[in-house]
Amino acid sequence: MINQPRIKTVFISTLLFSMLVCTFFSERSLAFVVSKTESTGAEIKWQIPSETYYVNASGGPSGSLSAVQAALQTWTEVPSSSFVFLYGGLTEKVCYDVNLDPDHERGTYDDPGDYGLNDGLNIICFGHMDNVVENDDPDDLHTLAENTIWYDRYSGKIYDSDIQMNINFSYATGGSASSYDVQSLATHESGHSLSLGDLYGASEVEKTMYGYGTKGDISKRTLHQDDIDGIAYLYFSITGTATSVTSASARLSGSVNPNGSATNYLFQYGTTTAYGSSTSSLSAGSGTGFVTVYSDIAGLSAGTLYHFRIVASKATRIAYGEDMTLITQGPPEAKTSPATAIKFSSASGVTSSSAHLNATVNPYGINTSYYFEYGLTPYFGLITPSAQAGDGYAEVQVSTLVTGLNPKSTYYFRISATNAEGSSYGETMTFSTMKPRPMPWLRLLLLDEEQTGVVPTSPDPNDVPPR
Ligand SMILES: [Zn+2]
Repeated sequence: MINQPRIKTVFISTLLFSMLVCTFFSERSLAFVVSKTESTGAEIKWQIPSETYYVNASGGPSGSLSAVQAALQTWTEVPSSSFVFLYGGLTEKVCYDVNLDPDHERGTYDDPGDYGLNDGLNIICFGHMDNVVENDDPDDLHTLAENTIWYDRYSGKIYDSDIQMNINFSYATGGSASSYDVQSLATHESGHSLSLGDLYGASEVEKTMYGYGTKGDISKRTLHQDDIDGIAYLYFSITGTATSVTSASARLSGSVNPNGSATNYLFQYGTTTAYGSSTSSLSAGSGTGFVTVYSDIAGLSAGTLYHFRIVASKATRIAYGEDMTLITQGPPEAKTSPATAIKFSSASGVTSSSAHLNATVNPYGINTSYYFEYGLTPYFGLITPSAQAGDGYAEVQVSTLVTGLNPKSTYYFRISATNAEGSSYGETMTFSTMKPRPMPWLRLLLLDEEQTGVVPTSPDPNDVPPR
């Protein structure tokens, strides 16, 4: 897995009730706005099919948790979009709190209240934002809510999105005419979390992504068709899984939503995230709703990790699914580990005539059996009974007990594992058994016998040693 450059970049979208400010670098398309990176023009969006969010309802009006959950569920339930918001639970974390930012300098990261953290934990919370006008920026007074989104400045991949409702304003959950509606604003803000930008056209007042809030307005709880088109535009393909994986081939699957226009798809694959190979482009049709698509790939190397993703394209644009991986079946990989001698006491003393022979075996997806070779020379001569290491794709630890070893001897051993693709031998290792040692202690039993007086007896191996 290649680590993409992860750059701490913040853009803030502000929902204003009187000021027009759009801090997105955005491109107008159809009837919605998609956020894009400044340097590459890539769409800023989640590159995973779902994202978990946490709520800190403290400071919000009663019913805030339910209102926030309903807001995010509204986006999840859009059938033409693949994206899913998952509720992860309550949190005590905050996004921005002016009381935790005494110097009132946003984005300097010198106070815990500066911004939410780019910690991969998406939070939605309520708190006081700065109500002091600084640097003649009147937004300080007029921001109802803000969304801080961290994304990769080249690929547009979103890492974290934190939403804060500014409780310097009055919020309500019951549609009060004198307060802002939590669910309406949370729906708008979570639209930003998905990459949709603010709209300010006079004809766009009915859209959830309209950039001004109005007291008592609950209409933004419900998505306008343009809001729905926006999220369907962004999240119209999703990489599935690899099935029928063999040592040389696999079936790659995914889902594509043509959403009414002719859509093609292909899969890119390769041993790195640069991919390098692709399947031929096929049609996913022009229907509405998601269709499951797949392509078979062949000519793969055995026992190798491959990356793959779906690429869906329409006339004017292209959408990349999340990177996924598969491992082809292959011959096992066996590694010998140090043996563990078993020490025990007998009448003749401490010895080690037994040992556990240890190893790790990666079956590479195929039923794999193993045994140990061992003996007094590098040519071994003895083998343990065959045992099973399963058919997984991860190393498993295996161990076999051997007994009847000679004392004070050096033994050679190694692991041997076999499956339908081939065999693997671990390196030869050695271990030594101990020379029998006499008991380190003896018992002197003194018996005061009636006739003969004190008589010493021989040691008894069952005795407890003296302390
Ligand atoms: Zn907004």
